[in-house]
Amino acid sequence: MAMPAQFETFWKHWGMLMIYRGGCRCGRVSYQIEAAPKFQLHCQCVECQKLTGAGHAAIIVFPKDAFASKGTVKTFGYRAESGHDVIHHFCGECGAPLYNLNSHYTNAVYIMVGSLEDPSLFAPERIVFASSGQEWDIMDPELPGFQGMPKRWAV
Ligand SMILES: [Zn+2]
Ligand SMILES: [Zn+2]
Repeated sequence: MAMPAQFETFWKHWGMLMIYRGGCRCGRVSYQIEAAPKFQLHCQCVECQKLTGAGHAAIIVFPKDAFASKGTVKTFGYRAESGHDVIHHFCGECGAPLYNLNSHYTNAVYIMVGSLEDPSLFAPERIVFASSGQEWDIMDPELPGFQGMPKRWAV
Protein backbone atom coordinates (compact mmCIF):
# COMPACT_ATOMS: atom_id res chain seq x y z
CA MET A 1 0.00 0.00 0.00
CA ALA A 2 1.32 3.42 -0.90
CA MET A 3 2.28 5.65 2.00
CA PRO A 4 0.27 8.90 2.23
CA ALA A 5 2.29 11.85 0.93
CA GLN A 6 2.52 13.59 4.33
CA PHE A 7 3.93 10.47 5.97
CA GLU A 8 6.39 9.90 3.20
CA THR A 9 7.65 13.47 3.56
CA PHE A 10 7.76 13.03 7.32
CA TRP A 11 9.88 9.88 7.05
CA LYS A 12 12.17 11.42 4.47
CA HIS A 13 12.76 14.36 6.80
CA TRP A 14 13.56 12.19 9.81
CA GLY A 15 15.52 9.69 7.75
CA MET A 16 17.78 12.56 6.70
CA LEU A 17 17.81 14.10 10.19
CA MET A 18 15.81 16.91 8.61
CA ILE A 19 18.75 18.09 6.56
CA TYR A 20 17.87 19.62 3.22
CA ARG A 21 20.72 20.02 0.76
CA GLY A 22 20.91 21.92 -2.48
CA GLY A 23 23.05 23.98 -4.78
CA CYS A 24 23.52 25.39 -8.23
CA ARG A 25 23.92 23.59 -11.55
CA CYS A 26 27.69 23.94 -11.90
CA GLY A 27 28.39 22.93 -8.29
CA ARG A 28 30.23 26.09 -7.21
CA VAL A 29 27.54 26.93 -4.68
CA SER A 30 25.98 24.51 -2.23
CA TYR A 31 23.88 24.89 0.89
CA GLN A 32 22.20 22.92 3.60
CA ILE A 33 19.42 23.53 6.07
CA GLU A 34 18.98 21.61 9.29
CA ALA A 35 15.37 22.42 10.05
CA ALA A 36 11.80 21.64 9.17
CA PRO A 37 10.09 23.91 6.64
CA LYS A 38 7.96 26.77 7.97
CA PHE A 39 5.87 27.14 4.81
CA GLN A 40 5.76 25.68 1.33
CA LEU A 41 4.16 27.60 -1.47
CA HIS A 42 3.89 28.54 -5.09
CA CYS A 43 4.37 32.25 -5.73
CA GLN A 44 2.89 33.72 -8.90
CA CYS A 45 4.07 37.30 -8.29
CA VAL A 46 5.52 39.24 -11.21
CA GLU A 47 9.05 39.11 -9.77
CA CYS A 48 8.95 35.32 -9.42
CA GLN A 49 7.89 35.13 -13.06
CA LYS A 50 10.93 37.22 -13.98
CA LEU A 51 13.41 35.34 -11.84
CA THR A 52 12.27 31.87 -12.90
CA GLY A 53 11.49 32.71 -16.51
CA ALA A 54 8.29 30.73 -15.96
CA GLY A 55 4.81 31.16 -14.49
CA HIS A 56 5.70 30.96 -10.81
CA ALA A 57 8.33 30.05 -8.26
CA ALA A 58 8.08 26.96 -6.05
CA ILE A 59 9.45 27.96 -2.65
CA ILE A 60 10.09 26.38 0.73
CA VAL A 61 10.57 28.81 3.60
CA PHE A 62 13.02 27.77 6.34
CA PRO A 63 14.39 29.51 9.44
CA LYS A 64 17.48 31.39 8.26
CA ASP A 65 19.55 30.52 11.32
CA ALA A 66 19.43 26.87 10.22
CA PHE A 67 20.83 27.72 6.79
CA ALA A 68 24.50 27.53 5.76
CA SER A 69 26.05 27.90 2.29
CA LYS A 70 29.41 27.41 0.61
CA GLY A 71 30.68 29.16 -2.48
CA THR A 72 30.23 32.67 -3.84
CA VAL A 73 26.76 33.84 -4.77
CA LYS A 74 25.68 36.89 -6.72
CA THR A 75 22.70 38.91 -5.60
CA PHE A 76 20.01 41.06 -7.14
CA GLY A 77 17.84 43.27 -4.95
CA TYR A 78 14.35 44.48 -5.78
CA ARG A 79 11.22 45.88 -4.17
CA ALA A 80 8.61 43.12 -4.17
CA GLU A 81 4.86 43.52 -4.70
CA SER A 82 4.53 43.20 -0.93
CA GLY A 83 6.57 46.41 -0.56
CA HIS A 84 9.43 44.50 1.08
CA ASP A 85 12.99 44.54 -0.20
CA VAL A 86 13.98 41.13 -1.49
CA ILE A 87 17.49 39.99 -2.29
CA HIS A 88 17.64 37.20 -4.81
CA HIS A 89 20.73 34.95 -4.57
CA PHE A 90 22.00 33.01 -7.56
CA CYS A 91 25.19 31.47 -8.91
CA GLY A 92 27.20 34.01 -10.90
CA GLU A 93 28.68 31.24 -13.01
CA CYS A 94 25.74 29.06 -14.08
CA GLY A 95 22.96 31.51 -13.19
CA ALA A 96 20.92 28.99 -11.20
CA PRO A 97 18.37 30.65 -8.87
CA LEU A 98 19.07 29.53 -5.28
CA TYR A 99 17.24 31.51 -2.59
CA ASN A 100 15.77 34.84 -1.54
CA LEU A 101 16.08 36.87 1.63
CA ASN A 102 13.44 39.39 2.69
CA SER A 103 14.11 42.67 4.57
CA HIS A 104 10.90 42.23 6.54
CA TYR A 105 11.24 38.59 7.56
CA THR A 106 14.80 38.51 8.75
CA ASN A 107 14.82 34.92 10.05
CA ALA A 108 13.53 33.37 6.85
CA VAL A 109 15.23 31.98 3.81
CA TYR A 110 13.11 31.34 0.71
CA ILE A 111 14.60 28.34 -1.04
CA MET A 112 13.92 27.88 -4.75
CA VAL A 113 12.73 24.27 -4.77
CA GLY A 114 14.45 23.35 -8.04
CA SER A 115 17.81 24.02 -6.38
CA LEU A 116 17.28 21.26 -3.80
CA GLU A 117 19.09 17.96 -4.28
CA ASP A 118 15.71 16.31 -3.82
CA PRO A 119 12.96 18.64 -5.06
CA SER A 120 10.43 15.82 -4.50
CA LEU A 121 10.45 16.84 -0.81
CA PHE A 122 8.36 19.87 -1.77
CA ALA A 123 4.78 19.65 -0.47
CA PRO A 124 3.04 22.85 -1.57
CA GLU A 125 0.36 24.15 0.81
CA ARG A 126 -0.90 27.25 -0.96
CA ILE A 127 -0.52 29.69 -3.83
CA VAL A 128 0.36 33.31 -3.07
CA PHE A 129 0.03 36.31 -5.40
CA ALA A 130 -2.42 34.14 -7.35
CA SER A 131 -3.95 37.35 -8.73
CA SER A 132 -0.78 37.92 -10.81
CA GLY A 133 -0.83 34.37 -12.20
CA GLN A 134 -0.93 33.83 -15.94
CA GLU A 135 -3.96 32.02 -17.33
CA TRP A 136 -1.74 29.34 -18.82
CA ASP A 137 0.00 28.70 -15.51
CA ILE A 138 -2.44 26.03 -14.37
CA MET A 139 -2.19 25.32 -10.66
CA ASP A 140 -3.54 22.50 -8.50
CA PRO A 141 -7.19 23.50 -7.85
CA GLU A 142 -6.99 21.77 -4.45
CA LEU A 143 -4.52 24.38 -3.19
CA PRO A 144 -5.90 27.57 -1.63
CA GLY A 145 -4.92 30.66 -3.63
CA PHE A 146 -4.40 34.14 -2.17
CA GLN A 147 -4.12 37.62 -3.65
CA GLY A 148 -0.91 38.56 -1.89
CA MET A 149 1.06 37.10 0.99
CA PRO A 150 -1.39 37.07 3.90
CA LYS A 151 0.10 38.59 7.08
CA ARG A 152 -0.85 35.66 9.27
CA TRP A 153 1.91 33.66 7.60
CA ALA A 154 4.53 36.21 8.42
CA VAL A 155 7.64 34.29 9.40
ZN1 LIG B 1 26.73 27.44 -10.47
ZN1 LIG C 1 6.97 35.76 -5.84
